Amino acid sequence: MNGTEEIGCCGAYCKICREFEKTCKGCKPGYLDGSRDLGRAKCRMKKCCLTKGHVTCADCEEYDRCEIIQAFLNHPGYKYAKYKQALEFIHAHDYSAFLKAAEYWKNAYGKYPK
Ligand code: SF4
Ligand code: SF4
Repeated sequence: MNGTEEIGCCGAYCKICREFEKTCKGCKPGYLDGSRDLGRAKCRMKKCCLTKGHVTCADCEEYDRCEIIQAFLNHPGYKYAKYKQALEFIHAHDYSAFLKAAEYWKNAYGKYPK
């Protein structure tokens, strides 16, 4: 689906990040078409998620019991709680609902419709 390449496997939304496409290549671009080597990626979530063919960890049946994603999302800090909210929103709705909610965000996370 269009637009999901900018959603990080962990729920961070890269599209509006100021570093995206400057210092940061983003979570996914290049891995899906083979121009970047997933074997050299440092992020365990990304490696696992893309290897399994998921768009994000929200698609994964192991999400609730997966130590990799749960350890990441349970880091202290507001942004991690927001990434968790993103994955749970995607799980409860779908990617198009997420992209619609994120349309006017100015950060890698933001508000959701009530
Ligand atoms: S932490 Fe990993 S999964 Fe999340 S955006 Fe960065 S590379 Fe992608
Ligand atoms: S096993 Fe964990 S890291 Fe891998 S795709 Fe599933 S939730 Fe993400």
